[in-house]
Amino acid sequence: MSRLPDLGRPPDIPPEAIALATALMESARLHRYAEAGSDGGTVATLEREFARLMGRRYAVAVNSCGSALFLALRAAGVRHGDPVLMNAFTLGPVPGAIDHAGGRAVLVEITEDLVIDLDDLRAKARTSGARVLMLSHMRGHLCDLDALAELCRDEGITLIEDCAHSLGASWAGRQAGTFGQTGCFSFQSSKHVNTGEGGVLVTDDDAVAAQTILHAGSYQLHAQNGTPPPHDVMAEWSTRCGNYSLRMSALAAALALPQLPLLPARVADWNASHDRIAARLRAAPGFALPHRPQAEAYAQSSLQFRLPDRDADAMAHFADQARRLGVWVKWFGKATPEGYSSNPAQWPGADAAEVPRACAIQMTLCDIRLPLGLRAAECDAIADALIEAETATRGQTPRHAQA
Ligand SMILES: *Cc1c(COP(=O)(O)O)cnc(C)c1O
Repeated sequence: MSRLPDLGRPPDIPPEAIALATALMESARLHRYAEAGSDGGTVATLEREFARLMGRRYAVAVNSCGSALFLALRAAGVRHGDPVLMNAFTLGPVPGAIDHAGGRAVLVEITEDLVIDLDDLRAKARTSGARVLMLSHMRGHLCDLDALAELCRDEGITLIEDCAHSLGASWAGRQAGTFGQTGCFSFQSSKHVNTGEGGVLVTDDDAVAAQTILHAGSYQLHAQNGTPPPHDVMAEWSTRCGNYSLRMSALAAALALPQLPLLPARVADWNASHDRIAARLRAAPGFALPHRPQAEAYAQSSLQFRLPDRDADAMAHFADQARRLGVWVKWFGKATPEGYSSNPAQWPGADAAEVPRACAIQMTLCDIRLPLGLRAAECDAIADALIEAETATRGQTPRHAQA
């Protein structure tokens, strides 16, 4: 069997980005703020470009998506002990941001299509009294965002969108990250723009933008931001927001800027690979894939599937076998965290007992990353290896069904 491609390969850094970064290093001006004679440089340019791309008034560049989520919670008014709703299918940095802000995570169920359960959301909003929802578009799966936005309006909930996996995705023609008070994006290497580390927060709200700029740490040089709020709003918040030093470095912005125009081509590439492998798995026995509604335009840089008939031992056996055949499968039901943490039982401060259905769904859920540039034959080889792993480990399962 031919060697399968490295599924963990991050998106390339284009030559223009390397040239921009090199010029920046030669200038030594790597800090985003300059005391004299600066227009804000590459970070301000990135903020302007990103705000335009998202169609929002403000973009604030920070050092990670986790920082953006934390700052969004601060600006939404979350203080020590406040409950914050979140869908239970996500990654550790999301409950981590709630913990960082002093909040208390209230976990919300998901459906078999891996999106938030709106009925459970409404019920938990009422019982917990939470006024904020941090919604993770985990692995790029979008819920009915029109229905969700309406529910949030009805219940008086401020929506924060975690768009770490949904840059380039939209619901009914409207981009993910434009439905909430804030949208938070990641430029970490395994996301859709690769700068190693980095994040951007977008909003239309003057006060949210002002607080975010000040908390990220602007040394009173906030006029150099790419999308600065009006002077009077900055003045109002200027002495009320501590400096947490969460700025994006100019180097990260230099790497990001030339990648933004590449997004449509990247999304087409990812979706072609995703759809080809997904079609093969859908046709094979033993696999269940989430239904993707017509209103959802996804940007799928990874692929999720379940082996719904299996128990934990059989899932572990499948994942081992797939890796042996060259496909690095992540299994969300694994009891010990491993390179990622998406199991609610592993998050400090969260109570997995709040979401039995999400835990059961994740117990049979797997995931593979999709690098850019996969050829059709490579997609087919990946699908074949997964199907072979499923077939080879089928005998042992499902124990509970062997009545
Ligand atoms: C990666 C990720 C984050 C955090 O992004 P960082 O930039 O690494 O802080 C948040 N949410 C989800 C769903 C992620 O996958």
